[in-house]
Amino acid sequence: MYCPFCSATDTKVIDSRLVSDGHQVRRRRECLQCHERYTTFESAELVMPRIIKRDGSREPFNEEKMRNGLLRALEKRPVSIEKIELSINTLKSKLRATGEREISSEMLGNLIMDELKALDKVAYVRFASVYRSFEDIREFGEEIARLGDDD
Ligand SMILES: [Zn+2]
Repeated sequence: MYCPFCSATDTKVIDSRLVSDGHQVRRRRECLQCHERYTTFESAELVMPRIIKRDGSREPFNEEKMRNGLLRALEKRPVSIEKIELSINTLKSKLRATGEREISSEMLGNLIMDELKALDKVAYVRFASVYRSFEDIREFGEEIARLGDDD
């Protein structure tokens, strides 16, 4: 971060808080060179892309909804809540890292499936069967067969 007054690169964050419903971080910075203070608003990293649903409509990314989907798939499975929360954070980072303003629900589903595949294979199959609504039992069988290839 360059100081807007003297272009020095050494700045100190004095204060940092979330604004506009948590979608932006407001930072108060002080230049270590000239000691001027200024405010920055950082948002790109924090904004989640909107989700394009199958019917083309858009909705805001909903973390609770994603968490519930994961928890449902992981019901009674031997996976700690810490691991689940870690996966949720990984998913959110991946979503932000796309740099897209909107992503398809299909892409979100695929990201979730990748996480579940690493967490617990039974949960993965559960999620995939609901999410992809497998056309027929053969396709489902192929998906389960494919699971064995990873190990
Ligand atoms: Zn400065």
